Formats: sequence, C-alpha cells, structure tokens
Amino acid sequence: MDIIILDQIEFNPSLKRIFKKLHVKKDSNNEVLVLELVEEARSISRPRAMYAITGIDERDDTGVFLGVIRMESRVMRVNLSDVHRVFPYISTSGKELYEWTQSKNELLEKFYAEEISQMALRAADETLLSHLKETYQLGKTASMNPGSLKDWPISAQTSLFKLLGNPEQAIGVKLLDSMLMIPNQTVSGIRFVSESGFSSCELCPRDNCSHRRAAYDQNLLKTKYQ
Ligand code: SF4
Repeated sequence: MDIIILDQIEFNPSLKRIFKKLHVKKDSNNEVLVLELVEEARSISRPRAMYAITGIDERDDTGVFLGVIRMESRVMRVNLSDVHRVFPYISTSGKELYEWTQSKNELLEKFYAEEISQMALRAADETLLSHLKETYQLGKTASMNPGSLKDWPISAQTSLFKLLGNPEQAIGVKLLDSMLMIPNQTVSGIRFVSESGFSSCELCPRDNCSHRRAAYDQNLLKTKYQ
C-alpha cells in the first residue's frame, strides 16, 4: 500500500480574512491580540496531510472492501459504484498548533487560537486536494467522513486509520478510544472521483449547522441510496 505524506504545507493566512472571520475591528485592542497570535502561529505551525491509494477489491449490497478492509456503508457502496480506487486521507493543523492552543488560558485568546488553528487545517486540506487533483489528474471529486452519517458511523475511524498505517508516527495524529482525533483540528475521510458530486450534508437533517455545505434533500436517501 502506498502512503504519501505532505509535510511542507505553507500556512500564510490572509489577515483580512482572519479579521473578518473573527469579527475584529481595525485599531481595536483585539486587533493587536490577533496580530500577535497570527505571528506566533505562523512561526510554529506545521500543518500536514497524508493519504493512501487504495483499490476497491470487492463490493456487495451494504459495503465495499477497500483493499482487505471492509467498510460497511450503503451510501459508500453506491457512491463508489463507478470508481476503482479511493484516497483515504487525514489533514491536520499539526501538533505544534494544538499544543500552542492548549497553552492559552485566557478565554478569548484560546478562542482566537482555535480559530487560527482551524484555518491551518483548511490550508492542509486545500493543499491535499490540489495535490491529488494535479498528481492523478482527477476531475470532480467528493469526500466521505466517518461519523458524518448514521450510515458510516464514527467507529469506522478504526478501519480508516488501519488503511493509513500509522498516522501518529507519520503526521502526529492520534486516534482516541472515543474515536476523536488529537489534534482536534484534524479531518479524516476518503476522497474519490465523483462526476455527480456528493456531500454528506445532503443526507443530514441537522438544523442550524454552521458548517453546512449543501441543502438537506429528504428524498435523496430513498431515491439514490436504498
Ligand atoms: S449539515 Fe453539518 S453536521 Fe450535517 S453533515 Fe453537514 S457539516 Fe456535518
């Protein structure tokens, strides 16, 4: 199994974007605090990503075998009907920013540090996606993340981590017994080519989710995935 690590990811966030995201006004005390935090974050951050290239060896009605590891998910089974390989992946803000955020005791400072770390995670995720698209000449892609749907629960993290070998050693991401990951600003999933596109949000009825990327379609599960 090929495992590829991206550990030279630049984190150079736009200050304009940060101030907008954090609702910080020009010439305020908070502006000075955020500038200091961004400078600290820039100097220590090491966002990272890793992925594997995994063939789909077998399929049945309720799941697929990614290599020798079975993933129980009807939604995945349908989404992967026309592809022959997937890219299991992890992107992370990195343990340096995690420890830095943990070291902040004051509430507002900790909140800003967490938001800045989230931007580092996004930088890692965007770098990984561009790398995959350029390296493998992928067209449109989609991603599935364990725990985002009842159909592919958070317990699938164990299988996903197995596909990636030793993420803790490779990029410093630890999987806890609770299935949460440390650093907390980390995402895991599988990416695959999908001309029709897919977002878990289309199958998720949760109200008021600030991370929603697509509207909930209450008929989709029945019409496409059953
Ligand atoms: S709506 Fe929110 S909780 Fe539901 S899948 Fe999308 S991001 Fe996750």
